[in-house]
Amino acid sequence: MGAYYDEIEIEDMVWDAEKGVFHYPCPCGDRFEISRRQLADYEDIATCPSCSLVIRVIFDPLDFEDEPDEDDEGELEAESSEEDKDSDSDDDQAFEDALENLTISDAPSPVTAAAGG
Ligand SMILES: [Zn+2]
Repeated sequence: MGAYYDEIEIEDMVWDAEKGVFHYPCPCGDRFEISRRQLADYEDIATCPSCSLVIRVIFDPLDFEDEPDEDDEGELEAESSEEDKDSDSDDDQAFEDALENLTISDAPSPVTAAAGG
């Protein structure tokens, strides 16, 4: 199984701390690259960006899966903690009181005109 150009042990690759990738010289003049994250995901194929060659990286996934995610894309949402100051809601209370005191003064009483009888 393998259309790999070569199999390279991780120890033979060069760690690029700035880019977070291991790289290895490709015969085309560029170089194969595989990120540490790929290694953590059990990816063992380093690709060359300039040609279609790939190499298989020999490594122990256990050495990488417990690596802390330094390049974790944390969602930095600055929570704006605006304090909603309770505006006085005494008006509501006053309104309810008004309802309580509401008395029907002049209810239209049904006029039963005793006409005839
Ligand atoms: Zn190449």
